[in-house]
Amino acid sequence: MKITFVSLFGDLIRPYFEESILKRAMQKGLFTIEFLNPRDYTTDKHRKTDDTVTGGGAGMVLAPQPLFDALGALRGASKEARIIFLTPSAKRFNVKDAKRLAAFEHIALVCGRYEGFDERSIERFADELFSIGDFVLTGGELPALSVADAVLRFVPGVLGSGESLAEESFEGDLLESPVWTKPAVFRGLKTPSALLNGNHKEAAKLRKTLAALKTAFFRPDLLSKS
Ligand code: SAM
Repeated sequence: MKITFVSLFGDLIRPYFEESILKRAMQKGLFTIEFLNPRDYTTDKHRKTDDTVTGGGAGMVLAPQPLFDALGALRGASKEARIIFLTPSAKRFNVKDAKRLAAFEHIALVCGRYEGFDERSIERFADELFSIGDFVLTGGELPALSVADAVLRFVPGVLGSGESLAEESFEGDLLESPVWTKPAVFRGLKTPSALLNGNHKEAAKLRKTLAALKTAFFRPDLLSKS
């Protein structure tokens, strides 16, 4: 899989792939990343990429020209690329989207800044739009990284064998059960005994109960779906 980050601030994104699981997966050739900066496509003599809001209003908007030319070049080079815009005013991204997008050969994540994109850029190029939650960030780089990370977890081989997707939160509409590690008692705080006696059936039963209780407490909306 290839992920293109379309951003004015690619250097905010790059370091995320220089550590840990994603670094190793990239070194194994399981995915590649590339950066496309709309500023490199601006025809403005001051290299401007934004302009005022038409009709009045606070702030600046990402002008259509640099983005049209950047995304036009991307489309020209890669017809099959799935172009995804990040914006708070869209459907909320979830694990089903992550799984589905992991099947694409090439996705492009378009990061906004300022007051967002001129609507015509969306009209012309967006295959999909996602919000990562009901809050507003200063730019699309963190949302793009969140989507990329969630998608890459479903690309075969990216997670090492020690990592399991099966019991993660949202698999089967439940949050994951709380987890513990050694020691069994830490500063007076205990691990549930059912997890300590080597009885895997009992441990699995407890995990299931705890997952259901945790879901009922934090995310009852997930239970009402099933
Ligand atoms: N004026 C926009 C609005 O109210 O919907 C917010 C623009 S925000 C300050 C700048 C950029 O950050 C957006 O274009 C988008 O790319 C990104 N962004 C901010 N919050 C986001 C969220 N919750 N989900 C996805 N993208 C977000």
